[in-house]
Amino acid sequence: FENVNKWYKKYHALNNICGEIKTGEVLVVCGPSGSGKSTMIRTINKLEEIQKGTIRVEGLDITDRTLNINHLRAKIGFVFQQFNLFPHLSVKDNIALSPIKVGGCSRAQAYELAEELLAKVGLSAKINEMPANLSGGQQQRVAIARALAQKPTVILFDEPTSALDPEMVGEVLAVMKALAADGMTMVCVTHEMNFAREVADRIWFMDEGQILEDSRPADFFSAPRHDRARKFLSDII
Ligand code: ATP
Ligand code: MG
Repeated sequence: FENVNKWYKKYHALNNICGEIKTGEVLVVCGPSGSGKSTMIRTINKLEEIQKGTIRVEGLDITDRTLNINHLRAKIGFVFQQFNLFPHLSVKDNIALSPIKVGGCSRAQAYELAEELLAKVGLSAKINEMPANLSGGQQQRVAIARALAQKPTVILFDEPTSALDPEMVGEVLAVMKALAADGMTMVCVTHEMNFAREVADRIWFMDEGQILEDSRPADFFSAPRHDRARKFLSDII
C-alpha cells in the first residue's frame, strides 16, 4: 500500500494507508467498528476501488486499468464472515468449481484436489453434503478449503469467526493456524487477540481510516503507542 486513499462519496474511508505484507507473513488487522478494516482488505482484490495511491500485489500494480481483474482475483483467496458458499452446490462442487472454471483442471483432478483439501480442514466425511446441512464452523472450513483450491498467493480473511457460535470458533482458528504454519501469506481482520498474539507476524491497528500502529504482536500487546489502541485493547480483552 502506497498512500492509498478511498472515499465513499465525501467520506474519507482510507486515509493515506501505507504498509507492506511480505510473502509468508500473517498480518492481523484490528480496530474499532467503522475504522476501515473491511474497506482496506477489500481493496486488495478490487472489491473496492481506490481513488488515490497505489496497491501492488506481487509487484503488479492493481490500480492499472489494463489489469485483468479475473487474473488478479484467481491469485487471491477471500474468506468472508458469512461463509458465502454456493448453496445449490455440494461441498465437493463448491471446492472444485474454481479449479475447473478458472484453473483449467479436469473434473477428476478438481475432485481429487477437493478430497485432499477437505482432509486438510478435517471434513472428509462431508464431501457430498450440501452447505445447509453443515454447522457454521464446518461451512467456514469448507470456505477455507475453497479458497485454497485456487492455489492463492495470499488469503484474505474478514472476521472469519465473528458469525460463529463460540464453540465453533476454535476449529476455524485451528485451520488458520495450520495454514500459517504452512507458510501461507494471510491478511486477517479479526478480534481474536489470542490468535493475533500467537500467530501474527505483524499487527495493524486501524482507526478512522488510518493505520495507527504497525507493530510486532509482542510490542502491540505490551506497549501500544496510541491511547486509542490502549482503549481498544482494554475494551476487548
Ligand atoms: P466493522 O468492524 O464494523 O466491520 P470496519 O472497520 O470493517 O468495521 P468498514 O466496513 O471498512 O469498517 O467501514 C469504514 C467506514 O466506511 C464506515 O464509516 C462505513 O460506514 C463506511 N462505509 C463502508 N462501506 C460503505 C459504502 N458502501 N458506502 C458508504 N460508506 C461506507
Ligand atoms: Mg468490517
